[in-house]
Amino acid sequence: MTVKDRIALVTGGGSGIGRQVSLSLASRGAKVAVVDINHDNALKTAMEIIEAGGDAIGLQCDVSVKEECFKSVESIIERWGRLEILVTCAGILFDKSLRNLTEEAFDKVHKINLKGPLFFIQAAIEPMKKQQFGRIVNLASGAYLGNPGQTAYSTSKAGVVSLTRVAALELARFGITVNCVAPGMVETPMTAGMPPEAYENIAKAIPVGRIGKPEDISHMILSLVADEASYTTGQTVFIDGGLTVGASRS
Ligand code: NAD
Repeated sequence: MTVKDRIALVTGGGSGIGRQVSLSLASRGAKVAVVDINHDNALKTAMEIIEAGGDAIGLQCDVSVKEECFKSVESIIERWGRLEILVTCAGILFDKSLRNLTEEAFDKVHKINLKGPLFFIQAAIEPMKKQQFGRIVNLASGAYLGNPGQTAYSTSKAGVVSLTRVAALELARFGITVNCVAPGMVETPMTAGMPPEAYENIAKAIPVGRIGKPEDISHMILSLVADEASYTTGQTVFIDGGLTVGASRS
């Protein structure tokens, strides 16, 4: 899994999966721009990397604002001259029944979860095309298959899967691969508010018998962004301890 000396940008790098992806990339020699709406957390992750002997910067950016996404990519090009790896982890979870979902809430979730990856891919196209090399991984979710009570979240993630497929087809000829991962339940601040009984019930339904950890997700992402992964594109990789396989058998 070669990522040494590659320049990476991770959105949502201040917390959870994005933080772990940033640390894992850096531990294998990539230089990482940690991007988050929460500047303090972005700086914290960048500082962890620097203290461990790596190279990183922490940038504040609201991924739902196109200009901010383009500006983040510009500052990386100014600093390092290239952008080779993009991982879009920034996202929000939102629970509301179909009946009670407001248009404003639906739009907010889509602006962050779907337009965020779209804007960053758009911003990355020129530098990656110039290099004739790029590795992009988006964070979808198993919820894209349809979770009751999560219309806004599920549809935003279905959009991410489709965005990934379209981008893979449009960008393949420039040496750019685009894939997404669809995690099941992962222990992060996003899911921390869940009652312990609900956690236990979910764990029981997962064939491997446990909730996922950020490392389970970053491991797969690292293999998708590695130099060696040039023949995998447009794919959605489920990382859910076999949950979706089990569900499709019943
Ligand atoms: P998290 O809440 O720990 O981290 C999300 C990060 O995104 C936070 O640092 C937050 O500040 C940042 N963020 C939110 N809105 C932003 C915005 N507008 N601009 C920039 N940054 C913003 O969540 P996580 O569990 O690490 O989730 C990471 C990704 O993985 C999300 O896209 C999520 O939908 C997806 N995912 C998570 C799970 C899970 O169970 N945790 C499962 C499937 C998919």
